[in-house]
Amino acid sequence: MTAHPTSSRQYPVAKSDTEWRQQLSPAEYRVLREAGTERAWVGEYTDTETEGVYRCKACSAELFRSTTKFHSNCGWPSFYAPSESDAVELITDRSLGMVRTEVRCASCGSHLGHVFEGEGFPTPTDQRYCINSISLDLEPASER
Ligand SMILES: [Zn+2]
Repeated sequence: MTAHPTSSRQYPVAKSDTEWRQQLSPAEYRVLREAGTERAWVGEYTDTETEGVYRCKACSAELFRSTTKFHSNCGWPSFYAPSESDAVELITDRSLGMVRTEVRCASCGSHLGHVFEGEGFPTPTDQRYCINSISLDLEPASER
C-alpha cells in the first residue's frame, strides 16, 4: 500500500513496519499505519460521552479530551480541538480525488482521521476532527 504519504518529520516514537505489525491488530494496523478508515457508526467511541482522555492506540500519547468531543452525527467520534495543538500533525491529503487535511499523531505519525472546518457546528472552533475510534484508547477520568 502506498496510500500513506511519507512525512519528512522524525517522530519521537519510531518503530519499524514489522514492529507495528506485531503490536497492532490487522484492523488497527490498516487504519493507523495505512491510513484506512473504519466504517461509519461501527466505532467503539462514536457517541461515547464518558469523561476522560483519548490516547493514541499506537503510542499512548494524549490526543483529545472528552471536553472537546461533540455529536456531529457523522458516524465517527468528533472533536473540535486536540488536547494540545502540537499533539497532532496536520498534512494535506490529496487521495481519493479530494483535498483533505489528514490528522496524525505527532508522537508516532500514525493516521487518526481528517479535520474539516467551516461546517457550521456550534463549537468554539468550527472544526471537526473526524477520528477513527480504532485509532484511540479512552482512559476514563474515574480510572486515572
Ligand atoms: Zn501515536
